[in-house]
Amino acid sequence: MNYICENISINEKGDLTFAGQDICDVAERYGTPVYLMDEDRIRHNCRVYTESFRKCFPEGSLPLYAGKANCFRQMYRIMQEENMGVDVVSCGEIHTVKSAGFGMGRAFFHGNNKTDADIRFAMDAGVGYFVVDNPEELAAVEAEAAGRGMTQKILLRITPGIDPHTYEAVNTGKVDSKFGNPIATGQAEEIVKMALAQPHIALEGFHCHVGSQVFGEDVFERAAAVMLEFIADMNKKFGYMAACLNLGGGYGVRYTADDPCLNIREKIEHVAECIKETCANLEIPVPQIFMEPGRSIVADAGMTLYTAGSVKKIPGYKNYVSIDGGMTDNPRFALYKSRYTCYNASRMNEEADMPVTIGGRCCESGDIIAENIPVPSSTCRGDIIAVCTTGAYNYSMASNYNRIPRPPVVMLNGAESYIAVKRETFDDITSLDV
Ligand SMILES: *Cc1c(COP(=O)(O)O)cnc(C)c1O
Repeated sequence: MNYICENISINEKGDLTFAGQDICDVAERYGTPVYLMDEDRIRHNCRVYTESFRKCFPEGSLPLYAGKANCFRQMYRIMQEENMGVDVVSCGEIHTVKSAGFGMGRAFFHGNNKTDADIRFAMDAGVGYFVVDNPEELAAVEAEAAGRGMTQKILLRITPGIDPHTYEAVNTGKVDSKFGNPIATGQAEEIVKMALAQPHIALEGFHCHVGSQVFGEDVFERAAAVMLEFIADMNKKFGYMAACLNLGGGYGVRYTADDPCLNIREKIEHVAECIKETCANLEIPVPQIFMEPGRSIVADAGMTLYTAGSVKKIPGYKNYVSIDGGMTDNPRFALYKSRYTCYNASRMNEEADMPVTIGGRCCESGDIIAENIPVPSSTCRGDIIAVCTTGAYNYSMASNYNRIPRPPVVMLNGAESYIAVKRETFDDITSLDV
């Protein structure tokens, strides 16, 4: 049998394994619900990017881990060891990165509405680059940098107008977007002009991000071509040559067998060829290239384990397996109708002949994890249910709805395992109540 990712298999006992470890044993040791992360897989995914970047792009080019995908200190220690840069989108993320001892010069601060307090906090923390979204923010960054007598490095977020043909809710590169400055309307050129006139701003280049869960053949190539033309145009108009181009994140991962397998090494090589060719045609030097992978670094390094409760068979309708977690630890079905591959880890040797909906424990009928999941008809209370590819946008999107504590994050590392984030307690939940 083929499992959804290489790090998933089944052992001689007939139990599901993840990162080489028996999942039923792990569930017993740490309790459920629990997020598991395969440390080797995270490092492997980082190296796909860092090695390809070294091979394909000019010196100084860097893949940046988009921490919003899954953000906690140990993750940033791994990113530091793997020579990645990072994207941060809030002061909470900046605090996490900095307190993990990460080199802040390699941090890029995103967001479409940085407050004055955010800007001060980020400068205090020594964030290397601001990715400036709009003219008001540019003025605020200039004012704060001037007050400190320093120069702040920035990129400008540009909207290239590329539709990556992905889901509407995660599609940000089109002209009509709350993010960035569209080229098509002339607003991009306006903000470049404004940035170049600021005495305490060092404009290092441009950023774009076209969307998420991208599988499309040439999405990054098209975005790069539009952005390089923009760079050449800004050089003609203002005599300004951008030193770097950040192409954003977004390569897709495999949640179900219907999703393709992307070869990211080949993808990056192809993007690099297109960049070189376009730069040659435009007669501009190849800029330093940045990309911001989040999902493709951590998604397939994650798995969530739950314990099954009731198994409700409604004759003529659906069957439901309820689990001891739900939209509080994984809101992606509720938000995007996202699909997942799930297994009954306790019964891998039995035929999975009963389609079920996996439902959470929240008081909310939209609290579903996955639909149409085949499990053995003997599935019962106490079985361990594994949901695959949950390393991205699960823990980072978790909530305390219904005052449910967040699960711990357990790292699997060879034959070892350790807790990277502790299980939240009921006292943690009331700790801010007066
Ligand atoms: C969300 C986001 C990313 C990461 O996207 P993935 O799909 O997780 O790779 C990178 N850059 C920006 C600006 C983003 O908003």
